[in-house]
Amino acid sequence: MTVAGPSPVWHPFTQHALAPEPPVVVRGQGAWLTTAAGERLLDAISSWWVITHGHCHPRIVAAIREQAGELDQVIFAGHTHPAAEELARRLVALAPAGLAHAFFSDSGSTAVEVALKMAIGYWRNVGEPRTRIIALDHGYHGDTIGTMSTGARGLYNAAYEPLLFDVTRLPFPGPGCEEATLATLDAACRQTPCAALIVEPLIVGAGGMRMYPAWVLREMRRLCTRHGVLFIADEVMTGFGRTGALFACDQAGIAPDIACYAKGLTGGALPLAVTLCRREIFAAHYSTDRTRTFFHSSSFTANPIACAAALANLAIWAEEPVEARIATLGTLQEEQITRFRDDPRFANVRRLGTIAALDLAVDDPGYLAGIGPTLAAFFRAAGLLVRPLGNTIYVMPPYCVTADDLDRVYAAIAGAAERFGRA
Ligand SMILES: *Cc1c(COP(=O)(O)O)cnc(C)c1O
Repeated sequence: MTVAGPSPVWHPFTQHALAPEPPVVVRGQGAWLTTAAGERLLDAISSWWVITHGHCHPRIVAAIREQAGELDQVIFAGHTHPAAEELARRLVALAPAGLAHAFFSDSGSTAVEVALKMAIGYWRNVGEPRTRIIALDHGYHGDTIGTMSTGARGLYNAAYEPLLFDVTRLPFPGPGCEEATLATLDAACRQTPCAALIVEPLIVGAGGMRMYPAWVLREMRRLCTRHGVLFIADEVMTGFGRTGALFACDQAGIAPDIACYAKGLTGGALPLAVTLCRREIFAAHYSTDRTRTFFHSSSFTANPIACAAALANLAIWAEEPVEARIATLGTLQEEQITRFRDDPRFANVRRLGTIAALDLAVDDPGYLAGIGPTLAAFFRAAGLLVRPLGNTIYVMPPYCVTADDLDRVYAAIAGAAERFGRA
């Protein structure tokens, strides 16, 4: 029986009074999606940055099927299961040095909330309570109250502003501002006892695909060490290969005190997140005194099926030439994007690993001006899933994307410049 009438579904980040009818996606295979109407769409944004190897990777699908028939879910407080145990060990082995404990949750936002609570709990339990958080301008860490507090303020969270906690903000270390970022961090750490600095390493995603150099990340890490401030790396987007290394922190040769991974952890197939931390942070909560417990949970913490998908993802990393694919994709992206470097209709043509981005010069680039949705509709008509952030067009495909697929994407970007660009 089908129920008629308008859809009751309320979509994320969607103004339903303006949005076109969404395509009904019924199938995903590699870099491609198929709609109920038979339309094929190239997924050039990895379905919101989560799909790494491609949709429905056979190995991940098989792992999900197998685990689903064995153990679907079990309470994780006071209980454990083989998939979570193995996954935690493997993650600790792969992650930057010193990260020794793994706390599972189910989204990037929860991974960041856990990181903030771990940091604040650490300071409380070592008898030196600190709650001040330092964050980067243009940062994005999620849409819950805590993560919105640490993220950039603006249109997206204006309605909730009175509920958000205050943080110290560092100017974004874009070209020419690197020293100002570091000086502000240094001064902030000297002024007030700060609990932690949270950053998206090397590239802020939702804040406009803005990139900054590895040496700045290293300097921020060094300043945190010097001032005894915990360093939180939000690798929810950058993790699992996007920036050209397994983790962005690896590229800079640094190890955070706390790291958050989510999107690509299961290859994008299922929601799962993990917050890793150094031994000292776990140790500060380890006590026969129950008041020192880390009081955090969610119902599906370490869901066995999601953990099995994540283990299959790690097996793919270990056994398939993923690093070579990522390197090739980086080269292809560079070859494609470079033609726009001298094009006056574009600014800030940039690339980091598998991610390429460029800003289309338009008369009114503001998010509310609607150029983003206009461009998205233009790309959709060309058979592409590309969802610009305002006038920032970015290409972040799954690693299985082909050179021909990318030809299509960049031909459409050239077409968008013809149609909407201001020379
Ligand atoms: C997407 C994202 C988040 C939030 O992840 P969700 O799974 O959407 O809650 C947090 N931090 C960064 C850097 C992200 O890109």
